[in-house]
This record gives sequence, C-alpha cells and structure tokens, in this order.
Amino acid sequence: MTGAWTLRAPCSGQDGFAPNQDDWKTVRDLKRLLGPRLGYCKRCPYRAECIATIKPSQVMFDGIAGGRLWCNGEVIDALDDVSDDELAEPKLRPSCGTEAGAKSHSRNNERICPSCRQVTREMDERRNAEKPKQEQLPLEFAGTT
Ligand code: SF4
Ligand SMILES: [Zn+2]
Repeated sequence: MTGAWTLRAPCSGQDGFAPNQDDWKTVRDLKRLLGPRLGYCKRCPYRAECIATIKPSQVMFDGIAGGRLWCNGEVIDALDDVSDDELAEPKLRPSCGTEAGAKSHSRNNERICPSCRQVTREMDERRNAEKPKQEQLPLEFAGTT
C-alpha cells in the first residue's frame, strides 16, 4: 500500500496480510492463518482508506483489509464494529490532493479521500507550527512596556 497514512497504520511494517496462494486452500485455512492479524485493524483509523486503496472486491482480494478478512473479494470475517461507510469509495475530483479538493469534500459533506486527508493534515501541522509565534507576540509587547 502507498500513502503517508500507511506508515501510521497499526499494521505498518508487518507482513502476512495477504498470504501466498500456496499457503492456503480453503476458507478455513485462510481464517486460521489470518484471523489473529485482524486484531491489528481494531485500533486502525484508516479502514476506509485501506479498503479504498486495496479495492478488495474489485481485485478479488484474499487477505486482510479494513477490519475484514476477504476471500476472493468477499468478506468472510470481520471485526464487530465495522461499518458499511468504510466500504464506500470516496468521491475523487481533479482537485483532489489540494486544499481546494479537501474543501470540496467538506462542503459536500462526504468522506475525505486519502490524498486530501494528507493535505488537510499538512495544513493543520503548518497551522500548529505557526501558532506559538502568534501567541508569543502579545507577550513580547507586554515585556517591552
Ligand atoms: S485497516 Fe487493518 S490492514 Fe488496513 S491499514 Fe488498518 S490495520 Fe492495516
Ligand atoms: Zn479528495
């Protein structure tokens, strides 16, 4: 998977989420093999992005994505708290990946796509980095009077 969010996901650096075809034959094998890894998705805030990136049903995915265990693109096991919203593809626009794209998502009250989420995060980080300077100004003025 690609995207900055993948580095923050609980499964970052782990492998075995999509096993080799040779390692399993039946749905039961797949559940036994991957069931324990489903736990990684419990505290993952990126389930929707994970599904949008892997597109499990389109690519007939076998493995773990978005808090679900998939076999041939169908869900065969899932965490208790998964929601259908996580399965919806985010709407993509030519402006995605820019500030304007991120604003379009929020204006239309829709789920933000991974690249716009990244832009939003960077904007927040920039804003937070600038904050202390702005807050310091009045103190400096106060010190000189
Ligand atoms: S939902 Fe699960 S597989 Fe997907 S990024 Fe999160 S922890 Fe990894
Ligand atoms: Zn977008």
